[in-house]
Amino acid sequence: MDLLFRQDAYLRECTAIVTGVDAEGIRLDQTVFYPMGGGQPGDSGQLILADGRAIEIADTLKDQEPNTVRHVPAADQPLPDVGAQVTARIDWARRHRLMRMHTCLHLLSALIKGDVTGGQVSDGKGRLDFNLPETVLDKEQLTRDLNALIAGDHEVRSRWISDEELAAKPELVRTMSVKPPTGQGQVRLLEIVGVDLQPCGGTHVARTGEIGRVEISKIENKGKMNRRVNIALIDL
Ligand SMILES: [Zn+2]
Repeated sequence: MDLLFRQDAYLRECTAIVTGVDAEGIRLDQTVFYPMGGGQPGDSGQLILADGRAIEIADTLKDQEPNTVRHVPAADQPLPDVGAQVTARIDWARRHRLMRMHTCLHLLSALIKGDVTGGQVSDGKGRLDFNLPETVLDKEQLTRDLNALIAGDHEVRSRWISDEELAAKPELVRTMSVKPPTGQGQVRLLEIVGVDLQPCGGTHVARTGEIGRVEISKIENKGKMNRRVNIALIDL
């Protein structure tokens, strides 16, 4: 299965052939739908049949096999035949908000010196947990610094490195809980030029300016060594 979002996160639709249909979902030979993973939710959208009928896709999940996803239809949707051609179209407005927030969390992790122990991208908001003692993280200062990085309009780009190269550079892995998937020979690196470099398989905007204004909405103490920093997009 070709995962087209890995080459181009801006693809909103593609044509595809149905390769499997069962209770777990619909499989295609290629897709623009991102499956839930790495703290980013799966895409929703539609599969449009040749006769114009639309199958509403409620969620996208990884399949058991690597590099395979299943498109999970909403309740009571028509199902396609194996071999049918469909147009796979994501809910772009939602995905773009997720891409903006996901990219913003990279900026946040570059600003705060502490290991990331967890995180979640949601529609219009997001959070990261840091392995930090109860130090003063200044909400207003962080909001200013984050918006300055966004306004800096830094280029965002990805490239692949081998498992061996990654193993030689353990400092690249900031996340303690979400280890990058190795064992397939190569790992995708996400670089925000001059700001951040780390393994990530998610979808991102092309330049930080596209994130738009954000605010740190809340900093929570979630335990002795856990600071949860919550962010919200201001421009929806
Ligand atoms: Zn990422």
